[in-house]
Amino acid sequence: MDNTSYSTAGFRKQTLQEALDSIQKAGFPAVEIGCVPHANPPFKNEALNKFTNELDRRNLKARSIHAPSGLTTLGATTEEWRIREVKILESFIIFASDINASDMVIHPIPNPIFVPEPDNPANPEIMEKAVVQSLDYLVPIAEKYGVRMNLENLPYHCDYPYRSMKELRTLVDQYPANQLGLILDTGHVGVMGNEIVEEIKSAGDRLKGTHLHDVKGNKDGDDHKGPKRGILNWDNMLKALKEIQYSGPYTFETIVTKENESEEELAIFTRTFAKKWLSI
Ligand SMILES: [Zn+2]
Repeated sequence: MDNTSYSTAGFRKQTLQEALDSIQKAGFPAVEIGCVPHANPPFKNEALNKFTNELDRRNLKARSIHAPSGLTTLGATTEEWRIREVKILESFIIFASDINASDMVIHPIPNPIFVPEPDNPANPEIMEKAVVQSLDYLVPIAEKYGVRMNLENLPYHCDYPYRSMKELRTLVDQYPANQLGLILDTGHVGVMGNEIVEEIKSAGDRLKGTHLHDVKGNKDGDDHKGPKRGILNWDNMLKALKEIQYSGPYTFETIVTKENESEEELAIFTRTFAKKWLSI
């Protein structure tokens, strides 16, 4: 079975229609909708119908959506900020359900650049509490709409909680598997200097999604490169995913092109790799 998917984040500067065209042309059967910039605010009514027609016309399945990130997170450090963002996330759960996407990616905690007092020593504790409060609100909504929220490991060099699979696993274990899972971002693992196989094993049976891309080193922005263009060992990665009996989508979130390479060419390069890697 071809369980691959490609993120529209690979076509950030293009329209959603152009992104879908290129993803279809590259041969991917499914897509992750990067809601920013491609579907923000979520489509409703006419726009929603038009969008589902666009997917059908290209024979593409919206496998997942990536909720807005940036300011939109579970672990906001002020209550006013947190309430605003859970409402936004609620609207995207409904959007995921509207387009029959089973999964929605969420960034559990904010990038320090968005935090008013980023070095406040109380932040880790404030964030831990905020994440739980936000999940307590969102999990019943996700259940109502039949959507699973997957929390992503993040590449921030700070003392904030919930940046790795290891930490996130202890969190999601407290909630039902159908509403809360994990998504492994392979490049973020590299930026953090963590071990990919260990991270996959920590996620274990709660791993429900992937953001596959390569990473050159552990500086910000070293990631989102095409497969095998960085330091990750893709064979060990696949072996570990098979060991935990991973059955979710293989979603490529490749964004950074080589010199003189178009975004469409990167998608084709990635598709060629995926077919060989996954023996499709
Ligand atoms: Zn990602």
